[in-house]
Amino acid sequence: SPIVFQTEIALNQLSFRYDSATPWILKNIDLSISKGERIGLSGKTGSGKSTLLDIIMGLLQPIEGNMMIDGQIINAANRRSWQARIAHVPQAIFLADTDIESNIAFGQSKPDIERQRVRKAARQAQIADLIESWPQGYQTRIGERGIKLSGGQRQRLGLARALYKQADVIILDEATNALDMATEQAVIHTIHALAGDVTLIIVAHRHSAFTNCDRVYELIDGKIRLIP
Ligand code: ATP
Ligand code: MG
Repeated sequence: SPIVFQTEIALNQLSFRYDSATPWILKNIDLSISKGERIGLSGKTGSGKSTLLDIIMGLLQPIEGNMMIDGQIINAANRRSWQARIAHVPQAIFLADTDIESNIAFGQSKPDIERQRVRKAARQAQIADLIESWPQGYQTRIGERGIKLSGGQRQRLGLARALYKQADVIILDEATNALDMATEQAVIHTIHALAGDVTLIIVAHRHSAFTNCDRVYELIDGKIRLIP
């Protein structure tokens, strides 16, 4: 049956490697995240953080062990219903060669876009002032025939897209590392203050991104450990 997500994300003795000829990236991971919790995840480059996120999002399947949402294993039949609950800001944000509002209301066709919601998401992601300073505002084209954006501007658009989605689960993968500290803190505080029981998983190198997290973990040698 479809995933609703009411209680818990659980990784049980979960191990993963990309190929049987390559080393295990994740080894016997046990992790439980309750709905509404805010979790930080750190670890050296290449330690497997993005891989772990891909597993949580159902994009990769565990080789050993499993992941359950409310006690249900994610499979081909329920994967999409789980993914529909998640907003993910990846390390490299894909921006379509179209206008700003279509990039924030990603996947929606022009008539379906809710303009007030786009503006709210842009404000929450600290990018509204910039967009509104352009002559064409939210209709400004980006990409080949439009404006070029800096790394931090792209990142804030990625955050606005995630906030527009109004998802139950927000997953940030190094999503604030190109922002200055004040802007990062403003975005993080907004996300923590979102209405409802939003579950948050933040991957970062900079520990400033973990402000207000309930728990912070480190991935090291394929194992996950709680940072005291
Ligand atoms: P970073 O902080 O640099 O983003 P990370 O902790 O997110 O690193 P991952 O991207 O999860 O690390 O990568 C973990 C390991 O898996 C690395 O050794 C990487 O080379 C390897 N890896 C990642 N993606 C693939 C893939 N698609 N196929 C094979 N190996 C991969
Ligand atoms: Mg990564």
